[in-house]
Amino acid sequence: MSEVRVRFAPSPTGALHIGGVRTALYNYLFAKKNGGKFILRIEDTDQTRFVPGAEEYITESLTWLGLTPDESPSSPGEFGPYRQSERKNIYQEYAQKLLDEGNAYYAFDSPEELDEMRARLQEAGATATTYNTISRKSMKNSLTLSAEEVKEKIDAGEPYVIRLKVPHKEDIRINDMVRSWVVVHSSAVDDKVIMKSDGMPTYHLANVVDDHLMKITHVIRGEEWLPSAPSHVLLYRFLGWEDTMPQFSHLPLLLKPDGNGKLSKRAADKLGFPVFPINWNDPVNNELSIGFREQGYLKEALINFLVLLGWNPGTEREIFSLEELSTAFTPERIGKSGAKFDIEKAKWFNQQYIKHVDTKTLSKELLKDLNNKGITCDPLRANEYVELMRDRITFITDIFEGAHYLFNRPTSFDEKVARKRWTEEAAMITTALIGRLKTVSPFESEQIHDALVTLLEEKEVKMGKVMQAIRLSITGVGGGPDLMKIIELLGAEETCSRMQEALNQLEVKIENQ
Ligand code: GLU
Repeated sequence: MSEVRVRFAPSPTGALHIGGVRTALYNYLFAKKNGGKFILRIEDTDQTRFVPGAEEYITESLTWLGLTPDESPSSPGEFGPYRQSERKNIYQEYAQKLLDEGNAYYAFDSPEELDEMRARLQEAGATATTYNTISRKSMKNSLTLSAEEVKEKIDAGEPYVIRLKVPHKEDIRINDMVRSWVVVHSSAVDDKVIMKSDGMPTYHLANVVDDHLMKITHVIRGEEWLPSAPSHVLLYRFLGWEDTMPQFSHLPLLLKPDGNGKLSKRAADKLGFPVFPINWNDPVNNELSIGFREQGYLKEALINFLVLLGWNPGTEREIFSLEELSTAFTPERIGKSGAKFDIEKAKWFNQQYIKHVDTKTLSKELLKDLNNKGITCDPLRANEYVELMRDRITFITDIFEGAHYLFNRPTSFDEKVARKRWTEEAAMITTALIGRLKTVSPFESEQIHDALVTLLEEKEVKMGKVMQAIRLSITGVGGGPDLMKIIELLGAEETCSRMQEALNQLEVKIENQ
């Protein structure tokens, strides 16, 4: 078999939707699994929908996720250019071939005439109101006009498009790896425009020509492209490329968490989670959409979550690294039915990865987050914070949110805990501990713990009766990670001064009661 070559072919019309990321991931994995090539092709033939910055956004997203293409606009292979707008002259030749062999035709209809046609068909109760094998007979095209009339119009510079001539009454068969054989009757397929009046090809022609010329062996893309597949199959046939036609896989839709309809940006916004991999600053309306990356998702977690939306490994196993997926991924296990986008599951994956990813990686993320918040932190310290908190958080940002006392002095004390726990006994132990902590050396959690135990024994106080109060005096709250470690990280001076502050403030409260 020839080398497996797959492509991810986004159009730079805005941010990359998370569904597109999944498509890229499946393509990447299929290439890796088969020792093949993963290609990025930018499909930018629709100039009206071009959004500046979108291509860079796609590249940055793939780079972040580690889905590096083997061939792309910035790292071309031997099949370039990899941007369709730079391949314009290539398509003309194939459109001409289709025209010459009677598989395509010129159409001169104006937008108003097309509207009229649709209205007419609607009124007549026709099932299809498209330009097709039936309706084309009453339109202004090279099938209804004489050769002279056509030449005259073209010579006079009248605008025209080129349409695919779909055969009459025929079953078009698509062999899809996910759905097996899909059969569509040609009466349900419209005569798609393949060349626009501006001389640019449409997606359909450019996509097929490029897949052929770039020797693409498998087309793995979203289900929304399945209705276009019959036209593509016809193009392969008409261009004489049927023998090397790629194998299709149309991926199931990503659904809203409740399974009711497609996961749109609007739906995700409403439910408060991202649909873009990284931050997207929309140049059209200047709106900023937060990405999964900026929301605190680790790329490993996002990949793991995404791969299971539409594919299952056939076992109960859930945790896979990108490398493991590169051998485990089997397109035969891609499902047909839509996959619910359960954001809670995404969070769960993030939690799992935070537990296990190496400290250095996490502390880098923490430093970034702290930096954004204007807090400076020693990198070695960041490692310690990560170790202290990793079992208790979903996102790295939770370290600051959940334990800001590590970075700032508490400005208040949890009243409920104070009322319940700030007893005479607790205040007495806290006072004594201030003196004791100053003598602890080395100032490490184990020695701090020993000093506290000794103190409690001397005073004949049970640990359980005062621990929460001590924690309250240092952190302002009643719960959190290992207190001895917190004390170690804060240092003797800071801890003691916090305890003193608590003694001052909380005494007042007791007297007021
Ligand atoms: N340019 C199409 C898109 O934006 C590509 C579809 C395909 O992969 O054929 O999704």
